[in-house]
Amino acid sequence: MSGKRRIALVAHDQKKDNLVDFVRRHAAELGRYELVATGTTGGRLVEACPQLTLRRLKSGPLGGDQQIGAMIAEGDIEAVVFFVDPLTPMPHDVDVKALMRLAIVYDIALALNRKSAEALLAFLRDREKGTADG
Ligand code: PGA
Repeated sequence: MSGKRRIALVAHDQKKDNLVDFVRRHAAELGRYELVATGTTGGRLVEACPQLTLRRLKSGPLGGDQQIGAMIAEGDIEAVVFFVDPLTPMPHDVDVKALMRLAIVYDIALALNRKSAEALLAFLRDREKGTADG
């Protein structure tokens, strides 16, 4: 892993616009991290924010969520921002659950919607300044 801490970015299809907007607004801050994203999400983010360096993993339904889970298990992830669509059934629902489960097991900061993602960034900012617990 590079010296930078790593953040994983994922969004279900109905939430991708929302994540693109979030990342665009916080591009400068997020650019200080090593970014990874599931395939389709990553494609959208690179298109919207060409200045960001981002590693694209496999698409979520083809194993991308599990790749992020493996990084968590290896201790290579600082935080996960995963904009979940709770209203659409997903064929890879088990992978999504497994990713969340590992984030919980390893006590990784996990944001599942816009407000919690804003809070997560504020937490990381405070931690850098040495004012947050954990
Ligand atoms: P995608 O995967 O970025 O390839 O769409 C996200 C997911 O559905 O887990």
